[in-house]
Amino acid sequence: MIESPRKFEGFGSINIFDLIRVLEIDTLGYKGFGEVFTANKDLLIDYATRTAIVIPVKDEELLTLEGVISAIPHVSLVIVVSASSREPVDRYADEVDLVRSIHRNTRRGIIILHQQDPVWGEALKGTSLEKMISGGKVRSGKGEGMILGILTAAAFGYKYVGFIDSDNYVPGSAYEYAMIYYSGFLMSESKYAMIRIKWPYKGKLASSDIYLRKRGRVSSITESILNYALSLYRKYETDIIKTANSGEHALTIDLALKMKWSGGFAVEPYELVNLIEMCYLGLEDGDCPIISDKIKIYQIESRNPHIHAERGDEHIADMLNFSLGTIYHSKLGLDQVKERIRKALEEYGIRDEPPRPRIYDLSDLEPTKVLEKIISISSDVHYFEPK
Ligand code: GDP
Repeated sequence: MIESPRKFEGFGSINIFDLIRVLEIDTLGYKGFGEVFTANKDLLIDYATRTAIVIPVKDEELLTLEGVISAIPHVSLVIVVSASSREPVDRYADEVDLVRSIHRNTRRGIIILHQQDPVWGEALKGTSLEKMISGGKVRSGKGEGMILGILTAAAFGYKYVGFIDSDNYVPGSAYEYAMIYYSGFLMSESKYAMIRIKWPYKGKLASSDIYLRKRGRVSSITESILNYALSLYRKYETDIIKTANSGEHALTIDLALKMKWSGGFAVEPYELVNLIEMCYLGLEDGDCPIISDKIKIYQIESRNPHIHAERGDEHIADMLNFSLGTIYHSKLGLDQVKERIRKALEEYGIRDEPPRPRIYDLSDLEPTKVLEKIISISSDVHYFEPK
């Protein structure tokens, strides 16, 4: 049960809805009298059946990955996109064994693939994703992994794709995210929808005392600068963006294939920056060249906190640099905005310009052809069919 969406702000063809909260994780016994959004179980199953959940993983603890997979409702296809090391220890082989044993027990549908499998490099040669290849293989980076997940979901005919990080220590959170995705798509009734999750609190397990923050450090800076940039452009102040760095988000495949993507840790904020650039800035309402319909972006706050791996200050500075680079080098990067970005980065000891995002276009790809090629020749892609 979710609050009914009431307020949204329109930016050209994009409607960004203000944050709404999960009110009840389960509506068991609900009689239907509240002013809320609920969905019956059959409808949720229908949406879950058409959703693939992509789990990007890079050298995470196997038990954590297992917990996240166990949280994904049975009818959704799970796509594990791994960038884990192959040597000196083959951690990918362990992940494949894990997935095989999960399938043996549950018979759920699950695919596992390796991002640096040279077969992907082969299959993407000559396509618009050729930029993603370096030395014959797909570059490492979370965004690049997510793109392979999108292509796989599209090739298998899924209508919706959701992402859930593998470094999530609470399977209950991952379960709630998946349920929010299904409900969000149902609620949106739109071909071009995106659901972004805001966690109520976030903590790192490695700390001796867990401190639950309401907002992550990178997200709060990226959000304040993105909101500032939008406010300057529109000349109406806004604080609508509350999920700039949300790794937990989902979108319709129709939208995923039309928009542009970025690599590495720039990926999440770039999704918003790209849509704003393509479908709002300098355009009349309804003139978005890639999508004629409205694009609806929902931001939904879960009940479970987000407890994930501790990575240290260097990782935070790196993420911030890539995140702010997406705004800095966009049409939103007016002088005042650039100045704020430079100041924010200086606090993290970064004096250079943030990096320009690497931009990937999926629009001319034929996912089915790409996947057919990959599955037929790769010995590293494992597809376990649902039974
Ligand atoms: P944070 O949680 O946002 O601080 O970022 P993380 O470094 O924890 O990464 C988020 C998720 O992406 C985790 O599940 C990682 O295992 C995964 N990940 C990070 N880098 C890569 C990559 O290059 N490729 C893939 N496939 N996954 C990655």
